Amino acid sequence: MEYKAGIGYDIHRLVEGRKLFLGGVEIPYAKGLLGHSDGDAAMHALCDALLGALALGDIGEHFPDTDPQYKGAAGSLLLKKVKTLVDKSGYRINNIDIVVIAQEPGLSPFKKQMKENICGLLDITQDRVNIKAKTNEGLGPVGNKEAIATYALVSLVKGG
Ligand code: MG
Repeated sequence: MEYKAGIGYDIHRLVEGRKLFLGGVEIPYAKGLLGHSDGDAAMHALCDALLGALALGDIGEHFPDTDPQYKGAAGSLLLKKVKTLVDKSGYRINNIDIVVIAQEPGLSPFKKQMKENICGLLDITQDRVNIKAKTNEGLGPVGNKEAIATYALVSLVKGG
């Protein structure tokens, strides 16, 4: 296979008493995302997309939420671990496209930092990563500000 593609999705509940992390950026907001780890739905969706492209299962298999070592784990740490699997695969990242869906807070001011974080962690140039931020038009749990969701798509190309 010359190319491989993978898709990832994640959603976490917004709760009080947690910091909000998305794409490795701490975002000022009254609530944060609930999870065994730091709840960074953007990083988790991206990890799942990479694992999907590699045909290596899902994030829950690699980083079980019953494992104490991943309690409070930063999304960036998980992404770094997944990167080692990409590096071993004989494929490299062609491009990444991410859609972060949050009714609140507005994420546009943080897209640049998310992109820089992801490029730095994966050691790829910025022309390979796109981050989109949108609301859910007030619909459903994301629209009701009960949760934040993310979709991620990646493509890999053969050649280390
Ligand atoms: Mg998650």
